[in-house]
Amino acid sequence: MSVMQIPGHDHQRPREVALEEIRALMGDCQLCPLGATRTNLVFGVGNPHARVMFVGEGPGRNEDLQGEPFVGAAGKKLDSLLACAGLTRDEIYIANVIKCRPPSNRNPKSEEITACSPFLREQIRSIWPDVIVCLGNFASQFVLHTDAGVTTLRGRLHQAGHFVVAPTFHPAACIYHSDWQPLLEEDLRMVGRWLEEHPAEGPAQ
Ligand code: SF4
Repeated sequence: MSVMQIPGHDHQRPREVALEEIRALMGDCQLCPLGATRTNLVFGVGNPHARVMFVGEGPGRNEDLQGEPFVGAAGKKLDSLLACAGLTRDEIYIANVIKCRPPSNRNPKSEEITACSPFLREQIRSIWPDVIVCLGNFASQFVLHTDAGVTTLRGRLHQAGHFVVAPTFHPAACIYHSDWQPLLEEDLRMVGRWLEEHPAEGPAQ
């Protein structure tokens, strides 16, 4: 399966910083105004050795209350999508571009993304997945260093340095755009095919 090349990411794995170290560094982060309105900082969850990392936008109401990404109805939706790629929750890692919920679920502001995104960058460098699935515009634009929208980016795999990147719709957006749901599933099946064609090297973790 061919992939589109995107410059701007390392090919070499950097010194590994453990996820716990990154979380400890964040502490009670107040680097942007969202720190004052959140209930919980939502760091991320999953397998620290995942081959596939999912990147979403930011915590919603339930995530803010529980401190974990993709819980409740959003979590169930994600589980069924994972099945399209032949994946389970314990095989993946999930994190968001911003770690604190914007009030009323508004879009994150660019200064909030600028303040928070170094943490996501460190998480990606720590996990060093083979594939990054970007859910929605904010995640896709951050990972691919582009202003293009997910509608034009999705449907094919991109190569960003070491990472194969699959931009696709955010599952929550499919609630309002039901015609996007089959496209999202198609993108996940494409990821599943890539994983089949590129089996993991070394023992599974
Ligand atoms: S959104 Fe990110 S930068 Fe802003 S307070 Fe929360 S953790 Fe800190």
